[in-house]
Amino acid sequence: MHRQGKVVFLSHCILNQNSVVKPLARAKGAYNKVAEEIIKRDIGIYQIMCPENKYLGLNRLPQTKEEYDNKDYRNICRDIAYEVVDDIEKYINNSNKVLGIIGISNSPTCSYNENKGILFEEIFYLLNERSISIPVLNIPTNYIEEKENKEFIDKLIGFLNNKETLYR
Ligand code: SF4
Repeated sequence: MHRQGKVVFLSHCILNQNSVVKPLARAKGAYNKVAEEIIKRDIGIYQIMCPENKYLGLNRLPQTKEEYDNKDYRNICRDIAYEVVDDIEKYINNSNKVLGIIGISNSPTCSYNENKGILFEEIFYLLNERSISIPVLNIPTNYIEEKENKEFIDKLIGFLNNKETLYR
């Protein structure tokens, strides 16, 4: 079977809402609508490790970026970022197309907003250093699995079809 050679990098909790701070879960398991759009296009999925879970575990309470931003947490995020960016580079150097990274809007760790989350700061710092441009998309704060989420799903389809891209 020939591989299509397309891969998308996802924040961990897009596929596993059991990893988020308890009251903040927005799906029973995965964001199925997001996963379905990716899977039906035969795009490979790379699940980035959840740094908050690694640092504080599953019973953690919500924290701000400022509360997370200490040396230990930076180091965890930096280590994960090195692994992720090394892997992005490997895929690109082996003729795969990395469609982009999907993060979580307003997350203190995984957002790509004006004020990036800590992991995404580290990832995009390294990508920049290596002159790699990667499209990026955020799951919006109003995404809830039970809802239709049409506006976002249309945006996601554009992103996966590589039409609507925001290169960073
Ligand atoms: S740290 Fe990232 S992957 Fe983990 S729960 Fe928060 S947004 Fe999701």
